[in-house]
Amino acid sequence: MRAKIVAGNWKMNKTLDEGLKLVTELVNILRDEVRSEAQVVLAPPFPYLIPFGRIVEGSPHVAMGAQNCYHRPSGAYTGEVSAEMLASVGVKYVIIGHSERRQYAGETNEQLTEKVNLALQHGLTPIFCCGETLEQRQAGGYVAFVGSQLTESLFHLDTTQLGKIVIAYEPIWAIGTGVTASSAQAQEMHAALRGHVAERYGQATADRLSILYGGSVGAANARELFACPDVDGGLVGGASLKSRDFVEIVKSI
Ligand code: PEP
Repeated sequence: MRAKIVAGNWKMNKTLDEGLKLVTELVNILRDEVRSEAQVVLAPPFPYLIPFGRIVEGSPHVAMGAQNCYHRPSGAYTGEVSAEMLASVGVKYVIIGHSERRQYAGETNEQLTEKVNLALQHGLTPIFCCGETLEQRQAGGYVAFVGSQLTESLFHLDTTQLGKIVIAYEPIWAIGTGVTASSAQAQEMHAALRGHVAERYGQATADRLSILYGGSVGAANARELFACPDVDGGLVGGASLKSRDFVEIVKSI
């Protein structure tokens, strides 16, 4: 059985007070109403990881995640946060290679390789993001392109290390646009990525790999997306900022 995961990526949203209110609501509703075995990951901005971590402590299925880490272990990198620092404050997951970071911070597959290595070295679970642009989808070859993102940033790992990765397929044209991939489009890509991993690491490893879908997941479409055999949960942006919507998504697993 693969782990089912719903991760909320808050991006650069919420003040501390707003965030505390949302996390407290979420923890309470998840405790009182949700019987799902799904792992819930909350990825707020860096300054909130410690105070929110205290609130989620003791919630059996809720863990803290960071939205990024730096690709160097430590040193003179002003403004950056290392994987080791995240682990030292109790963070369990780290989103790596989100398309917004690839686009706005110019992150390369090589840098993402280093981030993945450092995250694993410090016991963090990388949620590795991949996905194609609309132009790439329309031109065809998008399955091969997304496969190459995995090959370039992950396929240096050994089987044990690869087994600790979570993949998030996030078509860029669906992120924050309100346009979600259809369940057929999501299933096509997820099955292809699992097949790609199976070719390199074997079917048993591929079968244990959690592959999340991200891109305008909401309370209204989560159930259909999560019903796809190769979709093991979601990476949720906008809808993770509203407690009711996010809880409905968790319940859809
Ligand atoms: C994301 O940024 O990871 C994401 C999926 O955003 P949204 O759900 O808002 O499309």
